Order: sequence, then C-alpha cells, then structure tokens
Amino acid sequence: MNQPKSPDQPSLLVVEDEQDLLEVLRFSLSREGFSVRTAENGEDAIRLVRQQMPDLIVLDLMLPTIDGLAVCRAIRSTEKTRDIPIVMLTARGEEADIVRGLEAGADDYVTKPFSPKVLIARIHAVLRRSTSVGEGIVEVGRVRLNPERHEVVADDKRVDLTATEFSLLKLLMSKPGRVYTRQQIIDSLHDGFAAVTDRSVDVQVVSLRRKLGTAGERVQTVRGVGYRFGE
Ligand code: CA
Repeated sequence: MNQPKSPDQPSLLVVEDEQDLLEVLRFSLSREGFSVRTAENGEDAIRLVRQQMPDLIVLDLMLPTIDGLAVCRAIRSTEKTRDIPIVMLTARGEEADIVRGLEAGADDYVTKPFSPKVLIARIHAVLRRSTSVGEGIVEVGRVRLNPERHEVVADDKRVDLTATEFSLLKLLMSKPGRVYTRQQIIDSLHDGFAAVTDRSVDVQVVSLRRKLGTAGERVQTVRGVGYRFGE
C-alpha cells in the first residue's frame, strides 16, 4: 500500500526485493516524515518513476531480472527523470559494485547491512545537495572557492593551484560528501586537458592536498572507490 503524498513531505521510491528489509525501510522512512512508495523489481520501479516523479530513489543494486544498475541507467537516460537523486544499496565489500553504481549515475550508496538511521542521514544529505546550485562561490569549512576569479582561499591564505587541480577541487566541492570515482573525475577533467589517467588523478589529489595545508584533509580517499570532499 502506498501513502498519499503531501506537499511538504519529500517523496521516496524504495526499490528492494527483500521483503523484510523493504518493510523495515517503509516503516522507518515513513516515520521520518517521508512519503514512501515501494517496488520489488526494476520493471515496477521504472514504471512508478514515470507515473509520478519521486524526490529521491533508494535503489537496491541486486534485483531480479533488471538489476539496479540498469534501472539507474534507464532513469538517467530519460530527460524527465535524469536529475532524480538516487541512493544505491550495495552488498558490503563489493567495491567494484559501488564504482559501477556511481558510474551508472547513483549519487550515493549505503552498504548492507545498515541501520535505517544511516540511510536516513544519507537521504537528507543527498536531498540537501540536490537543491544547492553550483556556479557561485563555494565555501566548505575553511576552504573557499571562487569559480569566477579562479581563486581558492584555505585557512585565510590564498592557494595557487594549477588549472587541473582547480577543476578537481571545484568538482569535489560542488557536492561535499559525494564520492566521485576516478573515472568520473577523469571524465570531468578531460575537457581541455591532456590525457588524464587513474594514476594522474591520484597525483593531482596528492598535490592538491599538500597545497591546501591543514584543510587538505578534507580531500578524502574512499578506499577502492574514489575521492570526496568531506562535509
Ligand atoms: Ca536485493
């Protein structure tokens, strides 16, 4: 049974084929104040998204027939649904799945088993990020980035970055807390720069951290997955 949506409740679509887990999620997310619809397979998920756009999708990766990656790609490849935030549920330790999920367009992920509290925190963070817009001055903690003036200030000191380092920092800071895979970083830096490889991304990160001084610890490595700028 699906609850009616009221205008101030963010609406979620939760896609999960394990019925026990689905019930737990429906209960705890509804109690948190979300309007919750559910689907137990990829076909239903895609159909429900097209019927009524949710504000965010919680999507299990391992689903029968059409898996979560395919659902994610289907949603991202349709103009109307392309910007709906997606939080992916993945099995613990499957780093390759996490990378594939992020590259298929997921905004964030939670690894199983997880507590509903953790998922709720991620959902709130992703919803917050999806409503903030990106071209102005970005300030996170002690780091301020001014895209127009191509200027970065960390701990009140001006930092001289190369064009590639600047673009890397701008990407990471555009959505604090979001993990970017190396491939996503490469794709984003590719415009106008010489060939960027996995290894050169790592080299850029090391250099960026060093130049940011103590604020550099916010450029965090997510082992086996990629990098993010800590919230
Ligand atoms: Ca599953």
